[in-house]
Amino acid sequence: MRSIVTGGAGFIGSHLTELLLEQGDEVVALDDLSTGRLENLNRAVRHPHFIFVEGDIRDTALVDRVVDGADRVFHLAAAVGVRIIVDHPLESLRTNIHGTESVLEACRRHSVALLLASTSEIYGKNTADALSEDADRILGSPLKSRWTYAAAKGIDEAFAHAYWQQFDLPVTIVRLFNTVGPRQTGRYGMVVPNLVGQALRGEPLTVYGDGRQTRCFSYVHDIVPAMVRLQEEPRSVGRAFNLGGSFEVSILDLAERIVQLLDSPSRIELVPYERAYGPGYEDMRRRVPDNTLSRELVGFAPTTTLDEIIRAVAQDR
Ligand code: NAD
Repeated sequence: MRSIVTGGAGFIGSHLTELLLEQGDEVVALDDLSTGRLENLNRAVRHPHFIFVEGDIRDTALVDRVVDGADRVFHLAAAVGVRIIVDHPLESLRTNIHGTESVLEACRRHSVALLLASTSEIYGKNTADALSEDADRILGSPLKSRWTYAAAKGIDEAFAHAYWQQFDLPVTIVRLFNTVGPRQTGRYGMVVPNLVGQALRGEPLTVYGDGRQTRCFSYVHDIVPAMVRLQEEPRSVGRAFNLGGSFEVSILDLAERIVQLLDSPSRIELVPYERAYGPGYEDMRRRVPDNTLSRELVGFAPTTTLDEIIRAVAQDR
């Protein structure tokens, strides 16, 4: 089995690459190293069935060459992180829309199955008890998005869905909720590595807003096997699946737990959103996944606890 991982030098992509190699796949990681790092692939490069291609997913000729002869593509390359999206909106849109177009088109030309990494952000400001995969949202979301990143991912989903309908291309969509683990840098606004880094350095932990906003963090080693199982499950084709953590925690409680667990002298500082992201920025109060579909189809049941996640992230720093 020859698998392509776009964004393979990134946080999630590098863990996925290692898992696929362990499974016996030949893996080609395509990455422009914009936020990804070669050192994330230190383990993979030792493997005889691993190839790294440095390049841009918007380079249609390159993507076509890489996809030719593959059995499946895991498309994770994207402009990711609040800072990048806010500071470079046009560049992010180009990567997140044109890049996916070029990957989809290569998959169509060479009849290669695709798994698209989408995001819980496509649910917009919805704070329902648990967000479930509503088919209407696949097409409706770009119009309701709170920012360009989510709009682009919604458009990607719509294109992927259309390629499946129109060309019978086997496409599976996963909507990832806050995924955390080793190799996530935190340079671009990811809360867990940021807070852990501050705690380890003895700096104040920066919590935006009132800190009562909640998230469900999931561990990358729970997420990537589920991505592979979903891609391999024929009944997943043409559908979107939530993959998220199973416990809800406020950011303030998260910060307190990090301080406690890492025995840090740091205090917690509440900072208005405007200071980091400019006027008018509003965060989602709550984001909780309904994982029923992925649980029913491939037995997705994340087991890693918040404490284990915090320790793993701290060990990685
Ligand atoms: P990441 O930044 O570590 O990974 C993205 C990778 O894509 C990087 O290695 C980067 O260098 C590469 N890349 C960016 N632009 C590229 C381009 N034009 N051509 C080639 N490569 C390019 O972030 P991540 O958290 O590992 O995210 C992986 C995927 O999962 C993304 O599609 C992201 O939208 C999605 N996702 C992640 C989360 C999360 O919590 N981490 C949540 C929802 C969705």
